[in-house]
Amino acid sequence: MPHHRCKFIFVTGGVVSSLGKGITAASIALLLRQRGYSVTMQKLDPYLNIDPGTMSPYQHGEVYVTDDGTETDLDLGHYERFAGVSCNRNSNYTAGKIYSAVLAREREGGYLGKTVQVIPHITDEIKKAVLSQAVDGIDIAITEVGGTAGDIEGLPFLEALRELGQDLGRENVLYIHLTLIPWLSASRELKTKPSQQSASILRNIGIIPDILICRTERSLQEEHFSKLSMFCNVPLDAVIEEKDVENSIYEVPVELADQKVDELILKRLKLPLNDLDLDAWKTMISRAVNPSGPSVRIGVVGKYMGLRDAYKSIYEALSHGGIANDVALEIRGIESEDLENGITETLEGLNGILVPGGFGYRGIEGKLEAVQFARERNIPFLGICLGLQCAVIETARHLAGLSEANSSEFSPGCSHPVIHLMEDQKGVINKGGTMRLGLYPCLLQDGSVAQSAYGSSSISERHRHRYEFNNDYRDRLQAAGLVCSGLSPDGDLVEIVERPDHRWFVACQFHPEFTSTPLKPNPLFRAFVGAAAKHVSE
Ligand code: GLN
Repeated sequence: MPHHRCKFIFVTGGVVSSLGKGITAASIALLLRQRGYSVTMQKLDPYLNIDPGTMSPYQHGEVYVTDDGTETDLDLGHYERFAGVSCNRNSNYTAGKIYSAVLAREREGGYLGKTVQVIPHITDEIKKAVLSQAVDGIDIAITEVGGTAGDIEGLPFLEALRELGQDLGRENVLYIHLTLIPWLSASRELKTKPSQQSASILRNIGIIPDILICRTERSLQEEHFSKLSMFCNVPLDAVIEEKDVENSIYEVPVELADQKVDELILKRLKLPLNDLDLDAWKTMISRAVNPSGPSVRIGVVGKYMGLRDAYKSIYEALSHGGIANDVALEIRGIESEDLENGITETLEGLNGILVPGGFGYRGIEGKLEAVQFARERNIPFLGICLGLQCAVIETARHLAGLSEANSSEFSPGCSHPVIHLMEDQKGVINKGGTMRLGLYPCLLQDGSVAQSAYGSSSISERHRHRYEFNNDYRDRLQAAGLVCSGLSPDGDLVEIVERPDHRWFVACQFHPEFTSTPLKPNPLFRAFVGAAAKHVSE
């Protein structure tokens, strides 16, 4: 086993899922970075899909796409937004990805006649995945394990992390366990027992957490800290309270810093305690929490509005646009199917309308209603991926005299496929990882709204789609007022359309939400929220 200068932090969860492990891990990464360390982050997901790219938003929430085009868990979005780390194909491993590598090697004869087993072959593959983060220049690698301690499918992952503690030496590895302290309203008390049991599950595997972080609705008392310390076998000063934050998830790192989690980690890993610089982060939070500008009402028209996680990066990027413009945002989630049959009441009173990405025909006609509403009433509009495709179809149907216009995704035989399958997608049969994925360059037209938003004529943004603007209709659509203001460098692919006759109407084939961070909002979101803020006062 190679020895690395890099130190490792392993974050596991206990009691229940959805505790905010990703946000906690990302917050820790931010604190370590702001103390001068270079940090990388990774998520291990014990389910069997090779990646979340083929999973429904109902199952998994948003699929987050990295620069290199890997379809990943949405926690990687937190990693990039909080800690500014750059994720790639080594940043998310599922059990499916681990097993398929082992099984492929077995078929190639790579195990030389041995019996291939979960231990050591699967666990070795997991260890290799974790160690792949230790590239030159990285001081600290943080690995988060999905699921909850005690999950059967998570066992090989926890075993691998235990072994790494042995392999690398305990001064190079730190275990953090994130757990829930439930509040029982009937007896009016906080309960530590589930956390004790969760620590005991880890102990059975051979992991004793160095730090216990306790998610709670209410402040822990002295008795809770001492109980948790004694029965989870964690030093008293390493029992940390992580109370629900009041206003913004971006407060979590500050809360953890107040409790000196970063100092504890560095001491334990025997790393020097450089100064912590959170000034810019804190300024950003105070703008987010107390904006001086007006309240801006943005409608997001999608088909998973009841699921908070389905449009995670969209909501985050909007909030970044709010911070940049110093305004409060009131986001209204609108089910696109509710707009079908022309009932558009929920669109009344909006200062901006956003149609995000999506797949499949359900809800499309409602999205088209939303685009038409925004266009006709001169309401700032941002269309993203499927949102661009809807904007193109809407113009074709209502302004270019092509009433049959559609995307061949929804109507394969339609007479005017203004959106059609990309050339290099035509022979694709497999669903996993086969779309046009990741960062592609785009050139912006001089004087366009897009160019003024980006302040540049050449950008790169992340993509995830199979269909595109059909160039056979470019002239007719341009004549109908739609300007193709962003093109691939060869001029072939339309990446951005906009309407000069409108207050602010921009749609892009890429996903600007994935590159937005609270300290560096994506230019399109900043400009869209800015236009919506102007709409409030006009
Ligand atoms: N379904 C459309 C396509 O595949 C849009 C994809 C998206 O919005 N991410 O092109």
